[in-house]
Amino acid sequence: MMLPTHALVGLAIALPVSVAFPEFASLCLFSGLFGGVFPDFDLYIGHRKTLHFPVYYSVLSLLVIPAAVLVQTPWIIGITIALVAATVHSVMDIFGGGLELRPWEATSERAVYNHFHDHWIAPRRWVRYDGAPEDLLLSLSIAGPLLFVVEGRFLWIVVGALAVSVSYVVLRRTLATIAETLVENFLKKMLPDSLLAYLPARYVR
Ligand SMILES: [Zn+2]
Repeated sequence: MMLPTHALVGLAIALPVSVAFPEFASLCLFSGLFGGVFPDFDLYIGHRKTLHFPVYYSVLSLLVIPAAVLVQTPWIIGITIALVAATVHSVMDIFGGGLELRPWEATSERAVYNHFHDHWIAPRRWVRYDGAPEDLLLSLSIAGPLLFVVEGRFLWIVVGALAVSVSYVVLRRTLATIAETLVENFLKKMLPDSLLAYLPARYVR
């Protein structure tokens, strides 16, 4: 799924906790947002492998949730929300498309790397690709309740995520062509092979 969807899911995970602990609601929402987007910081460095850990994040979450329920300090609650949001992100990507540049062609069998079993998990394609119309529908349905409950800067983040979602869905296929043109016509001619080696495989034909 696209990054704004993950950001909104992270906020939605944090929402009930932020309502239960209004004294540190901002920390809860920030933790959810951060955990929701964190795995995609690996976009250009081993995407869906370097920071996506569907098994390990799940195990860590299961260990930390009881501690958060018992202790209830801001730190442990914040860390727990971030971990749960990163877990949900890593697992959600399995139900999206593959890792190829044009995921709507459905040619890649790589969705998310499973470090525990040391193999790639195949994409389920419930959401065919990041930026698909059904991805936008998911974003809108999660953003709906958030728009009525969150306030201040988090409300603006929700509105911003929706604006980015709509633009991304409209431009998704064009962006793939632009990326390919950029790589073929400029980067491949300008960069030495030693640097081109760092380019993610999906951009190199
Ligand atoms: Zn991801």
